[in-house]
Amino acid sequence: MAKEVILTGLRANAEFHLGNYLGGILPMVQQQKKHAGKYQLNMFIPDLHSFTTPIDHGKLYEQTHQNLKVFVAAGLDIDQPDTFIYRQSYIPAHSELTWILDCFTGFGEMSRMTEFKDKAAKLRGSQMIEEVWKEEDVPGSSDRISVGLFNYPVLMAADILLYGAKWVPVGEDQRQHVEFAREIANRLNNRFKDLFVMPADNVEQIKFAGRENPVRIRSLRNPNKKMSKSVEDPAGTIMLSDKPEDGVKKVMEATTDSQANIRFDFEKQPGVANLLQILALLTGKPQSGVNTEWEGKTSYGELKQAVADTVKSFLTDLQTKLAAIDDQRLMQKLEADEEVMRKVADATLLKVQKAVGLRPA
Ligand code: ATP
Ligand code: MG
Repeated sequence: MAKEVILTGLRANAEFHLGNYLGGILPMVQQQKKHAGKYQLNMFIPDLHSFTTPIDHGKLYEQTHQNLKVFVAAGLDIDQPDTFIYRQSYIPAHSELTWILDCFTGFGEMSRMTEFKDKAAKLRGSQMIEEVWKEEDVPGSSDRISVGLFNYPVLMAADILLYGAKWVPVGEDQRQHVEFAREIANRLNNRFKDLFVMPADNVEQIKFAGRENPVRIRSLRNPNKKMSKSVEDPAGTIMLSDKPEDGVKKVMEATTDSQANIRFDFEKQPGVANLLQILALLTGKPQSGVNTEWEGKTSYGELKQAVADTVKSFLTDLQTKLAAIDDQRLMQKLEADEEVMRKVADATLLKVQKAVGLRPA
């Protein structure tokens, strides 16, 4: 029987930050270590997703490769036979399936996506968009928001369904989109016999990832907001390329609260809870264990110091590994995997094309 597929992608619109690492990269590396040989692992760069929000296109190609190297530095073993790395745009079936799925997707259901609403709201007020588009191309504020941003969950559903992925470890912000992938898979499976493997639901996903809570790392400056690639927030964001001492500084200056009482409560004490979550994930300890160790203590300075030390050794270690990566070997693996994955994706696409009447049954 074919192995179940675990799949994740991280777009290359910018460098990765600690939230990407803890929410997207680390779970894959952990799954690979835990289940070596038992599952197939697809870890890809969704480069087509990278410009749903405006970017500097002169940097995209280079960024894609840099980000790919981070997977390896973070511990992804690319020599395992069931692990595949690839660039989305090198496998045209992603775009083709997206178009077909688009035609079965409601305008309303896309409009309700939280990520879309958040990012669209930001773009309406953004200066950057003015630099990217010429004024005459931007007649009204809703034209600052691309159709690509609107329907990227459909592309993400195609990313998942093409490979029959059951397990999709993502951060909390992407859970709604995984739910949509299930929804559209189910819709097409009902309409045209069984086409797609159903991804597991969000509750199963969390259990499978061995987590007690969904992961949503907050900005260190503004703990009500998530750490994000596309938001200008240098003091609140730990980039994986930050100098370790800068990482320390950002943690030591993190916004907390005035309660002087450590508790893991994202509602009432998001800054402190964020630090506890970072500490648990980076040290590999269960959240509940870390909470028991710290809850009731009063010194935020002591907690920050513990987190800062952990961040420092994490960044130092990751950057040392990054510098030692064999680029040539990585490119060979990438191109070989793209060949293999293209066949898998094309086979799924053909099934769908037959079902919808684009190819003879
Ligand atoms: P952008 O803000 O431009 O969308 P991003 O930081 O959200 O960038 P993505 O490429 O959209 O990064 O997401 C890649 C992965 O990282 C996804 O699995 C996403 O859930 C996860 N992720 C992103 N931000 C966080 C965060 N703050 N905490 C946990 N996981 C996160
Ligand atoms: Mg995102």
